[in-house]
Amino acid sequence: MSRTDACVDFLQRLIRTRSMPGQEADIAALLVSEMRSLGYDEVSADAAGNVIGLVRGSGDAPSILFNTHLDHVDAGDPNDWPHDPFGGELHDGVIWGRGAVDIKGPLAAQVYGIAALINGDRPPGDVYVTAVVQEEVGGLGARYMAETLEADLIMVGEPSRNEVRRGHRGRVELQARVRGRMAHASMTDIGRNPLTVLGRFLTLLEGMDHPHDPNLGTGTIAPTLIRTDQTSANVIPGEAHLTLDCRTIGGQGADALKEVLIPLLKSCEIEGTTGDILNPEEERASYAGLKMTYGAEHPALSLPADHRAVQTAVAVLAGPLGAAPPVGVWDFATDGGHFAEAGMTVVGFGPGDDRLAHTVNEHIQVTELERGLHGNTALAREWAVTFAAGG
Ligand SMILES: [Zn+2]
Repeated sequence: MSRTDACVDFLQRLIRTRSMPGQEADIAALLVSEMRSLGYDEVSADAAGNVIGLVRGSGDAPSILFNTHLDHVDAGDPNDWPHDPFGGELHDGVIWGRGAVDIKGPLAAQVYGIAALINGDRPPGDVYVTAVVQEEVGGLGARYMAETLEADLIMVGEPSRNEVRRGHRGRVELQARVRGRMAHASMTDIGRNPLTVLGRFLTLLEGMDHPHDPNLGTGTIAPTLIRTDQTSANVIPGEAHLTLDCRTIGGQGADALKEVLIPLLKSCEIEGTTGDILNPEEERASYAGLKMTYGAEHPALSLPADHRAVQTAVAVLAGPLGAAPPVGVWDFATDGGHFAEAGMTVVGFGPGDDRLAHTVNEHIQVTELERGLHGNTALAREWAVTFAAGG
């Protein structure tokens, strides 16, 4: 079987192995056994249940950590799909199913792309191939890995149509909470309605200025959900919550956002009400039993277009791809932000059309998968030395 055929076969088995967040045990076992049979030098699962494969380098060139994730989003109603979302069917050179582009295609292209160096010329430095848990629900796996594993260069395999990605905006979810006084809705003089405060606040939000980043664009804040402590229509609520979906640029974390938003909300208070902006934390557990507590916060990721890690990745990929790939930014947030926050240098490259991610049409062309595989082999072989040599 050719390397591409073996990679396709592996991708089909990955798609047939369901792996919703928190339920990645089966797919982790499949990945561990595949890496072992391919001859990876070390294969293990860490305390979070993340899978880590290592191909040891022949020298001391910078280390590279290739990264994807094990989980996928819900497939919805299978009847809405043209093919079984968990069938991994191959039709006319196209593989169908949940995860084909996000993220099992790119995962297979990393595992097989790096395996090409095991029995031939070794990579110049150590190369890790990793797949983490719970990327789709807050990044428990990447948060843990960024604290416990260090590499000089990180290559995030989220689908990029085999182009190079140098960042994305971050995402922070905040809650505006206003407390007032509950009362019979016929007695507005007794009640202190928190919705009145939120109404004023929404108007001010609309007119807010947001910071701009030449690489990532402008930050945004979208009010998305509103709820009160009431289910009765004839009661003035005592408390109201408004969810804010904040898309952030570098340096704009939850604390920085709160510094701006708290005074804005305070300026909307009426007598007898108090407002606050919260970033609620939640405890999550991985299938392996690790528990972590954190708020809904994904850091932005951004390298300038002329950064050496970006430029050398482009130069290396020009070989197998036949031309220098375009460089851009992702629309969505990735786990790369957690590695960048830990001080590591993160670039993105992966096969698959990101516009098909999370849809009922998710599929990947075998030819594109193959180009991604060859791209990963070239990166593992040449990126670290080219980067260390200064491009
Ligand atoms: Zn993904």
